[in-house]
Amino acid sequence: ANFIVTIDGPSGSGKSTICKMLAKNDGFIHIDTGKIYRSIAYLLGETFSQDKLNKLKLDFKLQDSQILLVANGKILNDLLSSEYIAKKASLIAQKEFVRSFVNDFARKIAYNGKFVIDGRDAGSLIFTNAQLKFFLTAKTEERAKRRSIELSINYKESLDSIIQRDKQDSERKVSPLVVPKGAIKIDSSNLAIEEVYSLIKSYL
Ligand code: C5P
Repeated sequence: ANFIVTIDGPSGSGKSTICKMLAKNDGFIHIDTGKIYRSIAYLLGETFSQDKLNKLKLDFKLQDSQILLVANGKILNDLLSSEYIAKKASLIAQKEFVRSFVNDFARKIAYNGKFVIDGRDAGSLIFTNAQLKFFLTAKTEERAKRRSIELSINYKESLDSIIQRDKQDSERKVSPLVVPKGAIKIDSSNLAIEEVYSLIKSYL
């Protein structure tokens, strides 16, 4: 049987940290849909087309409750964290054919087991039947601060990137960032990550 929890929200809201905690402590397998977008951005480079995407051989394997993305035998996960890749991912995520590739890929992974999926449309579109949906958010400045610490980049660079990606996520025509119907909303601006974790755990 399948048990699906989705956590959506903007960049830097704490989604992946929470998902990693759920994977480490609570028996969930974590699927990070942002990483799938980032992998495509990384692999396809500047010249980007549906034809190239169709030929893309993206694979995955499960290790320590995390999904590792693999291409040509190489694990991509550690190559994907830069803001450069994030911005490229956000651009290609505007395309309908990219989004349906990612959605199919995520559904294929989550066919049997206990999964937590984070993204922008995990609950509103990819897994509409999820047992539990969360929407995690925080003030823009707070998210920028967290990202700048996490990536060791300056605050201004982090803030600019977050503002740009927020805009792309909320204004894009195909599946923009929305609060999924029935989702539990959590504003983490004034909460420590452990508090967000306990709050989410109280619903499980
Ligand atoms: O979550 P993360 O920062 O890794 O995502 C990278 C980019 O991919 C985001 O800025 C967003 O534009 C896009 N994305 C998306 N839909 C998702 C996950 C990520 O459009 N489900």
